This record gives sequence, structure tokens and C-alpha cells, in this order.
Amino acid sequence: MNTVSFREANDLMLEAAVPLPGEDIDLVSALGRVLAQDVVSDVDMPPFDKSAMDGYACRRADLAASLTVVEEIPAGRMPGLPVGPRQCARIMTGAPVPDGADCVVMVEQTETLPDGRIRMTNIKTADNICRKAEDIHSGECVLGQGEIITPAQMAVLASVGCVRPRVACRPRVTVLVTGNELVEPDGLPVGARIRNSNGTQLCAHLQQMGVVPQYGGIVEDTRDAIDQAVKKAMPKSDLILLSGGVSAGVYDLVPESLRQNGFEFLFERVDMQPGRPTLFGRCGSLYCCGLPGNPVATFVVFELLLKPFLYRLMGHDSLPHLVEAVLFRDVSCKAGRKQVTIPVRFTQSGVVEPLEYHGSAHINAMTRAQALLTFPMGQDTLRAGATVYVRPI
Ligand code: AMP
Ligand code: MG
Repeated sequence: MNTVSFREANDLMLEAAVPLPGEDIDLVSALGRVLAQDVVSDVDMPPFDKSAMDGYACRRADLAASLTVVEEIPAGRMPGLPVGPRQCARIMTGAPVPDGADCVVMVEQTETLPDGRIRMTNIKTADNICRKAEDIHSGECVLGQGEIITPAQMAVLASVGCVRPRVACRPRVTVLVTGNELVEPDGLPVGARIRNSNGTQLCAHLQQMGVVPQYGGIVEDTRDAIDQAVKKAMPKSDLILLSGGVSAGVYDLVPESLRQNGFEFLFERVDMQPGRPTLFGRCGSLYCCGLPGNPVATFVVFELLLKPFLYRLMGHDSLPHLVEAVLFRDVSCKAGRKQVTIPVRFTQSGVVEPLEYHGSAHINAMTRAQALLTFPMGQDTLRAGATVYVRPI
């Protein structure tokens, strides 16, 4: 049995991941996708010296004088007149600053005199002018290949007119769930049965990262049933995710079936807890990952190993966003050689508390989890007050 450390498993999966090709899509569908191109701006932002305030554009040298209003400049209109000595223009936020003016005084810091002229009540005003191209230069690369498109990237794509961005194709992921004890969530489990939560959980993890899952249903713990399900999934998948049936029991037939179907395993066990009986393999450009059936193990393996792998398939290098926090109370584990991960929550900003957690079947502990805490290798006790690094989920 090929057992690897967590680090090795992570490295092997990332090395194996061959990024998928790109496709051009409409901007409205781009949220959550990964850019497969660099994006260059076709405009300056702002395109002209722009007023940052509603107020009066004038000459700084005139701030102590009473000024005559020469025109009004709303956003969207070019100024018609330059501003001369002792003159000003009423200007709105976002409007081009007229020639001759070198500052804008906000309207709240002005008063209108009975004769209609304007007096400034703050002569130490800032310029309140956003300079042409101070945000983006025309021709500048504003977004890079491999970036995940968040609402901020959406705004930049819109600003530079990139309405058909090239994004990485999404991996086709088939989810197969093994276990004779399982009934689907809409059924009532009787006798020795339980509801299948991993199918729903895995599809949800995938959806959250912008991947559309192909759910293949519950598969009986027989070689025949697993073979058939795997064979059916192979031509229409980039990754087959299998839940359960990868441990050491006589009904754990997933590895055998995958091997018979042509997969070679890069590893069959990972020194991590939960998640030890995790296997990963490939058959040409098709990947498979067998996950232990316990729902928390499914969660942790997805978060720690599958997410970076799937992002790499989409051309994005994801780094775990580890957050420094102080531990609220002592916590211990039986680490040995394994990398142990437990769910934690924040008691206040910067302080985390381990959750009551009965082990890898205790999925409802995860509903309260706000982060995962991985014990540093070789350490089996962490003391209250210790600084730890947690991964928000
Ligand atoms: P296995 O990895 O197949 O040996 O399953 C390990 C444990 O996880 C057993 O207690 C199973 O009943 C449970 N389990 C397996 N598959 C699922 C599933 N899809 N949803 C919830 N629990 C599961
Ligand atoms: Mg099973």
C-alpha cells in the first residue's frame, strides 16, 4: 500500500494536474471562473482629470476671493469654458475638470453670496482631482491569467470592456457514492441504513468553487456495480470522485475496480487524520480520487487536497489563506506521523476555540466550524494562549 505524507500527496496531485484548455464566455457568466488570459485595458482610468467632489472648480490662487460661476458641469459632459482668474465652475463628482482650474472645493465648504458669487470657507482644501490615468493606463495589463474572477475582477473586466473573457474550462467531475447502507436524502433510513450526505456535500463543495458536478448516484458495494458506474463515468469526466469503499474492509472494492479500469495510483493512503484512506490515481488525462466515507474526512480531504488540485486544473495556484490566531484552550491529538486537522471557531477576532468534535463521522460539528486547525507536524498538544495558523472555511 503506497502511503504518503500530506505534503507528498499535495505535491503529487499538483504535479499531476494538467491545466484544462480555455473557452470564451460572456462576462455575465464569468463570476467564479479562472482567467485563461491576461487582460489589457483599452482605456485610461480615469479618462480625464476628474472631479472627486460635488463643488466648485477654481484656481488655488483664488481661494480667498469671491468667485463668479461661469458654468455648471455635470458628470458626462465636457466643460465648455476655461476657468479664468476669479472664476469658478459648479462641478459634479465624475465630471471633467475644466482648463485653468487646479482644485475643486467641496460644496459643503463654500457659501453663495447674495450677489450669486461663491466664497470658499476652507482655503486649505485638498485638490480633489483624480488625475487622468492614475488608476489604469491604456495598454496596461490589469488582470492576469490564473486569477479567480471575483466581483472586483468583474468590475475591472467591465471597466476595460472585456465582455468575452477567456476562462479555463471547468473540469467535468463525476461524483459516485458507494455504500449498501445508504439511502438518498429524500428517503427514510430504516434498520442499519443511513442517509447519504457525501453526495450532497461533494456536489456543494464543487459548486462553491464554480464546478458543475455530475452526480452519478449511490453505487452498491459490489465489483459489478462499481465497475459499471466507473465505466459509465470515464468518457464524460476529467475527475471521478468516489465516496466510501476505499478502506480495508471486504466490501471496500473501489481500489480494485479502479485498477481494473486502467487507473494507476499515485498514492493509496495519506498520513492525515481525518482522511487517511484517500487514494488518487490517473488513467491518461482522467483522474480519480477515492475518499473515505466518513463525512468529516470527505470535508477535510476536499478542502486540503482536492480544492488546490481542481484549481490547478483550472490554471489557478491556490495558496491556503492561513490566519494567525490565539488558541482559547488546550487541545491534544494522537498525531504520531499523521497530520491532524480539527474544526475550530472564532470566539472573538483573532481567538479560536476547538469545537466539540467526536471524530470524522460528526458532520454537524462542521456546521459550527469557521476554520480548520492543522497541528504542526510532530506536535500533539497545543496550549491555551499558543499562536496557531488556521484556514478559514
Ligand atoms: P467507508 O469509507 O465506506 O468504510 O465508510 C466509512 C463510514 O462512513 C461508514 O460509517 C459509512 O456508513 C459512512 N458513510 C459512507 N458513505 C457515506 C455517505 N455517502 N454519507 C454519509 N456517511 C457515509
Ligand atoms: Mg462503505
